[in-house]
Amino acid sequence: MTLPDRTGHFGEFGGKYVPETLMALLEDLERIFKSLKSDSKFKREFDFYLREYAGRPTNLYHAERLSTHLKTLKVYLKREDFLHTGAHKINNTLGQVLVAKRMGKTRIIAETGAGQHGVATATAAALMGLECVVYMGCEDIARQALNVDRMRLLGAEVVPVTSGSKTLKDAMNEAIRDWVTNVNNTFYIIGSVAGPHPYPVMVRDFQAVIGQEARRQFRAKEGKLPDYLIACVGGGSNAMGLFHAFFKDKKVKMIGVEAAGYGINTQHHAAPLAKGDVGVLHGSRSNLLETKDGQIRIAHSIAAGLDYPGVGPEHSYYKHIGRAEYVSVTDKEALSGLKLLSAREGIIPALETAHAIAYLEKLARRVKRKANVILCLSGRGDKDMEQIKPYI
Ligand SMILES: *Cc1c(COP(=O)(O)O)cnc(C)c1O
Repeated sequence: MTLPDRTGHFGEFGGKYVPETLMALLEDLERIFKSLKSDSKFKREFDFYLREYAGRPTNLYHAERLSTHLKTLKVYLKREDFLHTGAHKINNTLGQVLVAKRMGKTRIIAETGAGQHGVATATAAALMGLECVVYMGCEDIARQALNVDRMRLLGAEVVPVTSGSKTLKDAMNEAIRDWVTNVNNTFYIIGSVAGPHPYPVMVRDFQAVIGQEARRQFRAKEGKLPDYLIACVGGGSNAMGLFHAFFKDKKVKMIGVEAAGYGINTQHHAAPLAKGDVGVLHGSRSNLLETKDGQIRIAHSIAAGLDYPGVGPEHSYYKHIGRAEYVSVTDKEALSGLKLLSAREGIIPALETAHAIAYLEKLARRVKRKANVILCLSGRGDKDMEQIKPYI
């Protein structure tokens, strides 16, 4: 059986745990999304924008000097950092904006943490001539001023969120509130494989192009399949985008890298798969970080895009059935990973991506025989220069 099932579940994870007012909306979206899956005109349109506007296909690059350094690993980088706006997020926002247009919506809303999803959404909305409102926590607005300017330049309205911890999860709550109030003309673009059904499967399908291309490209270069796939996991969209096309290739091992922040045994990390409980957050059942009395805990990571207390339900499922392994990397290790790729390959990765890079050194020590790896280079590091200045 292909998952999710009819109720949007991946095993015990996923689903749609939302107020009744949202139920009809989600069912509407589900119906349209299902019909678009077999709509060749929609597919052609999406492919067109991915290719002509975003810059697909992205290269699968053999990182030779990095591989020499790692000794036991031959590493290929899937270069999502080449895409317009600098990361994989544009794949998803282009897809969802096209769905919104099909549904006749004229107004786009989104939540954003670091501002990367906000920028990708504002970009796609500008491209399609749609009104765009982005909810962003006050804390994040202060920390990510450059992305706020970008969104405004792209014509989006950035609404400061002052409730709760004034960060991503609160922005998501506000966006949901807006959606309930303005359903008639508004489409809500979620930025990762999280949220209520059908978002996790919809975002996965839009990001699956990463793995489809990588699988084809790797076979053309090596004549076989890779031994390992590695990607960082925030909500989990770049990882699931890479993993999905390889799900049935049982010999291909998958590793998702969460953010361990100050350390997985401290209160300051963003590793719900390693250290979280199962519960409901933002309409879906999945692993999440909570306090003893069941409140959502604030996540911490040096990488703003990994700083989310939940994770997409399909990753919880992959973990549960043992299809993927989930590991974690601290802030400090991620910084070394960032320096390693910059110095060895002349590629400055995003701090998020640097978590996956950092894990390569650990994997290199683990493997016995030479192994082939595809790593999802989810984004470029220009956006993080201000933040990493003290560590250079
Ligand atoms: C947002 C972001 C991530 C984390 O999001 P996922 O949904 O887990 O992929 C990772 N890398 C970059 C560059 C990002 O901008």
